[in-house]
Amino acid sequence: MGTIFHFERNMSKQCSVPLCSGTAAGYGNLCDRHKAIRRRHGHPEQSGITVQELAPYRKRVKHRMDKNKGNPAWGILGQRWEMIIAAAKVDESEIRNGRTFITYQREALHELTKLANEVPVDSLIETSLAMFLMQEEQPRRFKSDAAFDTQLARRARALTETNAGTYWDDKTKRVKRVYRDVSPRTLAVMAQHMKAAFGVAGLYVARLEQQEQQQADSERAALTNALENLK
Ligand SMILES: [Zn+2]
Repeated sequence: MGTIFHFERNMSKQCSVPLCSGTAAGYGNLCDRHKAIRRRHGHPEQSGITVQELAPYRKRVKHRMDKNKGNPAWGILGQRWEMIIAAAKVDESEIRNGRTFITYQREALHELTKLANEVPVDSLIETSLAMFLMQEEQPRRFKSDAAFDTQLARRARALTETNAGTYWDDKTKRVKRVYRDVSPRTLAVMAQHMKAAFGVAGLYVARLEQQEQQQADSERAALTNALENLK
């Protein structure tokens, strides 16, 4: 009897991701490949949001920011971010003085101060709001909340120069950028701070975009209707 039990426990099972023929390793339900994807992207079926994909959203956010240059909102968002960074810098100095932090917390502090040192805050705001807008308009592009958070933090990290290593890709004859990965928990902490600083504004901008779209649609419908009634 004992051998049968032993045998069953070691039976391999299929990866739980639909259409994947990989074998789930250990006690989890995922194959090694999907485990790696979950680690990197926050969900086994999430693919990375690319610069190109985010570009139209960034453009719309930038347009909105330019149109409202005098509005104090941007300054307030900047201040909120500064407060987070100031707290991170205090924690970092405590690390130098010997205070211990859990590894991912230390890594998150380092990533946050790096963002502050290398990325203009307006650029970070633009990227963050673009991500919130994309989430509102394409909710299915994100497989879970954790997947969204991971993508938010990844796009922020990609704004820094020092996170990017480059290599020559012979296939495409182009220089490619690669980013050193940080732990999933580090990305989660970064996302938490970004959402605390910019989340409310992101939702506002997304709603505003939605209202303007509806307005434009109904104006177009009214015109079509009027034209159809021309004699
Ligand atoms: Zn799999």
